[in-house]
Amino acid sequence: MVSRITDDYRDMAAAGCAAICEPAFWAGFDRSSAQGFHDYFAQITEYEPRRAAKFGLAHFCWLCINPKESENVELARDVLAIIPQFLDRPTVLGLGEIGLNKNSRNELKVLEMHIDLAAKHNLLILAHTPHLEDKRKGTQLTIDALKNNPGINSARVIIDHVEEHTVGMVLDAGFWAGMTLYPGTKCTSSRAVDMIEMYGSERLWMNSACDWGDSVPLAIPYTALEMRKRGHSAAQIDRMIYQNPKDFLSQCPKFRLPQP
Ligand SMILES: [Zn+2]
Repeated sequence: MVSRITDDYRDMAAAGCAAICEPAFWAGFDRSSAQGFHDYFAQITEYEPRRAAKFGLAHFCWLCINPKESENVELARDVLAIIPQFLDRPTVLGLGEIGLNKNSRNELKVLEMHIDLAAKHNLLILAHTPHLEDKRKGTQLTIDALKNNPGINSARVIIDHVEEHTVGMVLDAGFWAGMTLYPGTKCTSSRAVDMIEMYGSERLWMNSACDWGDSVPLAIPYTALEMRKRGHSAAQIDRMIYQNPKDFLSQCPKFRLPQP
């Protein structure tokens, strides 16, 4: 939401969204120091929940140094050192979006550092997978890194940005799979519904790309319309867009939805 205007909060509230979960991500520029991340973590744990609350929306967040900036291992080490001071904040769900961008050695090292931190503090994980040519390889490397840490429970990890060629491997490994909706490229609404029809609704959820590029904050309600158009029942739609994310996120005791 740091890349979005306040009208987006109004539109999401009007469309029936119950809560927003904002992952720590790229700020539109590479930050030059850990202090830049400190201020960003303050923004998404203090200011954004207040901005969302004006529209009756609950706002939660995930913390990390995102894959796009984690090529610098020294900087990542400094950022990881400041994360614990934010973990007790009431809206912090866990670590995310951690993961790989170009599948480089340094990114993998930083991913493993995040996984260690999550295991140490028993945190939920949201993992990004590469949008570039090597999504399948990056997804497998991410699964392996998570499986290599005995402190990680796969039921408490969501591996995000799955597409048709990676959703099966994520579900088979026991993780949750996230389909990130974009207006034209990557996973569109109709492709997400295809995957629901192929794989069922267990451990599968959808989220909207909401960033500096072409992205649609209302992608989830629009995909609910697409499900309705294709004959899915109200209960099936509710499972995908409300119950599944609620079940996963409720594994963090701090996740509470406002009473409807
Ligand atoms: Zn991502």
